Formats: sequence, structure tokens, C-alpha cells
Amino acid sequence: MKSWYSAMFLVVVLALTGCVTGLASAQKPEKKYKVTHTRAEWRKLLSPEAFDVLRDSGTERAFTGKLLDEHGKGVFVCAGCGQELFSSDTKFDSGTGWPSFWKPINAKAVDQVEDHSDDMDRTEVKCANCGGHLGHVFDDGPQPTGLRYCMNSVAMKFVPAKQK
Ligand code: FE
Repeated sequence: MKSWYSAMFLVVVLALTGCVTGLASAQKPEKKYKVTHTRAEWRKLLSPEAFDVLRDSGTERAFTGKLLDEHGKGVFVCAGCGQELFSSDTKFDSGTGWPSFWKPINAKAVDQVEDHSDDMDRTEVKCANCGGHLGHVFDDGPQPTGLRYCMNSVAMKFVPAKQK
């Protein structure tokens, strides 16, 4: 009889362990970014304004960004790591006061993450290479995608296309 109890005990323990392991693996692991720095290092690398947006998910004031009125041909890259994010070909004037694009330069350039901060349900857009916060994406953009990538100017740098 004693061994029957021992066996049942073992079964229960195994089942519980299985549940706990299952729960743990169901949670999304933190993504490992190619470019990583400590907060202290990022602080040295970035301007205070860029640090606030890229590393602390801040938002620059509307109509204050340098790249809002950038209409040249070229590529917008991450101010944190230099990864190419958006082409000038997809930039449009959304009237919101933030540089806006209807699609990223390629599917792997940015990560899109659910964001429920500030009592809003939004989709955060992050640099897929360093994890820097760039802005949010909304579904009220122009065709062909209908998307509006609402970016912070200070999170990006503009690299003009080379003249031929
Ligand atoms: Fe980056």
C-alpha cells in the first residue's frame, strides 16, 4: 500500500512539474538583439533626446523633429545602430507632426509588439537590430498598405541617396 502512495505522489509531482514547465515555455522569451549595450553605454552613445525615445519609449513633441520635412531621396536608418528602416519612397505627409511611412524598407527591419501602455492599445515599432523604440504603427495610412508608421524623428538618421 505504501508503495502505491509513493507512486501516486510521484505522478502528482511529475504532473505539477510539467504544468509549471509548460507555463514557463508558453511565455515569450526576451528577444536577443544583435546590437546590445547597457543603459549607461546607450546614454553615452545617444543624445539625451534620442535616449529618451529609443531606450525609454518616449515620444518627441509633434512638429519638432528634424526629419519631418526631409523630402530628399534616401534611407532613414536607426539612430541607435544604423540599421536601414524606411525608404524615402514610402514617406508621406500624415499631418500628425511625426515622420510617417506606409511600410518599412524590408520585412526584417522592424519588430512590431503589442503595447498597452498609457491606457491605449497600440502596436509598438522597434528596430529589429537593437530593440530601440521607434514609434507606433496604425491602420489609417494610405494605400497600398493602409498602414501609417508613425516614427520619432530623433530615433532615426537620414542617409541621402548617392548622386549619380
Ligand atoms: Fe537599431
